Amino acid sequence: FIIPDFPGFTKHIEDFYWKCKSNTEGKVASYIPQLARMNPDYWGVSLCTIDGQRFSIGDTTVPFTLQSCSKPLSYAIALERLGQEVVHKYVGQEPSGRNFNELVLDHNKKPHNPMINAGAILVCALLKVLVKPEMTLAEKFDFTLNCFRKLAGGENLGFNNAVFLSEREAADRNYALGFYMREHGCYPEKTNLRECMDFYFQCCSIEVNCESMAVIAATLANGGICPITEEKVLKPESVRDVLSLMHSCGMYDYSGQFAFKVGIPAKSGVSGSLLVVIPNVMGICTYSPPLDPLGNSCRGVQFCEELVHEFNFHRYDNL
Ligand code: GLN
Repeated sequence: FIIPDFPGFTKHIEDFYWKCKSNTEGKVASYIPQLARMNPDYWGVSLCTIDGQRFSIGDTTVPFTLQSCSKPLSYAIALERLGQEVVHKYVGQEPSGRNFNELVLDHNKKPHNPMINAGAILVCALLKVLVKPEMTLAEKFDFTLNCFRKLAGGENLGFNNAVFLSEREAADRNYALGFYMREHGCYPEKTNLRECMDFYFQCCSIEVNCESMAVIAATLANGGICPITEEKVLKPESVRDVLSLMHSCGMYDYSGQFAFKVGIPAKSGVSGSLLVVIPNVMGICTYSPPLDPLGNSCRGVQFCEELVHEFNFHRYDNL
């Protein structure tokens, strides 16, 4: 086993869990009513090792929408199908140093990276127009959901239509980003912007829970092979690129500090989820809706800090 004394290890995870539970900082996302209604007390942690040992504590079967945690996953599919060279003709690899939804492009008039809204909208356009272009939007959604499901080893994955509809209603900024990129000729030819935006909102509205997300994280930790089904879902090259950008850009405008203090690739989403990948060891998902001012789950960030304080999972431990 990759974690030889698993019960001993999970005892520590439980301790961190209870320690973070008393953290009542942060505010639940409120830009749409469906998210504003989330219970701030929900707190769950699930983990899955690359050899399939699993542990969950707290509210780990409560469904939540992927939101920004869909970004590394759609980026992974784009890499897998199109290759790094094609994908990065359209989107950069640099942290933006700005808010995740800021109306800004890089010096080449491309979105800075696939982990912010502009980049993720663009990746959705690539998936729609360049990957199996004959598919309708309905077929493309099924295709994407299936890819995500394979990453999760076939476990709990759904769709929240109320969140989708209200995302689309409250999307002035995302539309502004969409049009701004069209003005600058960012999209591949034949992109239908309305379809591409819908596809982006749909990806954000895919529903998971901590347990299925931990398997997704573990598949990334395991170089693209799902530890539960042993299916090879992604190439190691695609996973390497995804983890590189999660490391530098996955935590919004806290990414630099997170890379420094925690040193583990992660991606957060506004519903309060945090996807954490410890390469060659395990995947973790934490879920707690209250967010700090930068948009990261307060308990999730604290949990990661507790974790690397006790264990040498920081990328530059063990030198
Ligand atoms: N649905 C959100 C948006 O597009 C997702 C962003 C996020 O999770 N930060 O604004």
